Amino acid sequence: MLAVVLARKNFREYDQFITLFSAESGKIEVLAKAVKKINSKNSAHLEPCFLIEVEVVGNRDFNLLAKAEPIEVFKNIRLDLTKIRLVNYILNFLNKIIKPNHPEEALFSTLVGFLAFSHEQENINLFLIEAFIFKTLCHLGFYQELNKCVKCEQEIQMNKQGEYFFSLSSGGVLCQQVECHAEDVVKFDSEIWELLKNLMNKDWNFINNLQINSEDKEKIQVFVKNIGEYYLGFSIDVFCEV
Ligand SMILES: [Zn+2]
Repeated sequence: MLAVVLARKNFREYDQFITLFSAESGKIEVLAKAVKKINSKNSAHLEPCFLIEVEVVGNRDFNLLAKAEPIEVFKNIRLDLTKIRLVNYILNFLNKIIKPNHPEEALFSTLVGFLAFSHEQENINLFLIEAFIFKTLCHLGFYQELNKCVKCEQEIQMNKQGEYFFSLSSGGVLCQQVECHAEDVVKFDSEIWELLKNLMNKDWNFINNLQINSEDKEKIQVFVKNIGEYYLGFSIDVFCEV
């Protein structure tokens, strides 16, 4: 089956537990025997920026890696420190949030597309992280309604200050009728609203080329972090630029 390596953990002298994200079975942990021996054929292919074909033997509780072969090598990721850090961040994030043995085919395709894009692009906009988190939440069923009032489905309008109302507990934007009020309303302006829609709907190339001022970028970072933490129930580390 097709897979991407999310993490590797040493076990005994020559073995490793490999956490895979596979198209077929979602996240699975497999034991790779003798993978740390110098003549291990599998070891070189168990890198985070490879799309690999793996053969796994075992059952739901215990899996042994029989074979790993590269299908795509996104080698440019390894040549660029920013790309490596960004991809590692994304893989760690996925490792934390994906439940084992639960297929997430659309999310898997999104990840492979993201790796291919990162490999091909000369310059990577770190804003892709927020986009990845936001898209991942949608894949996992935590879709945020941004187009119409999430409660009454009517068209939303800005208030006099040019702001939209958004509620995490309701899962989207709200109109300003009293009936559609929520306790946890946050307000954001139309630029942030447009940016959020872009993160959700546009492809990597479009998002990579967005010109965003640092103030809006920070607002989006906080917003996506809050949404992620609210739905996933754990803290999301902020990616530190170097
Ligand atoms: Zn409403």
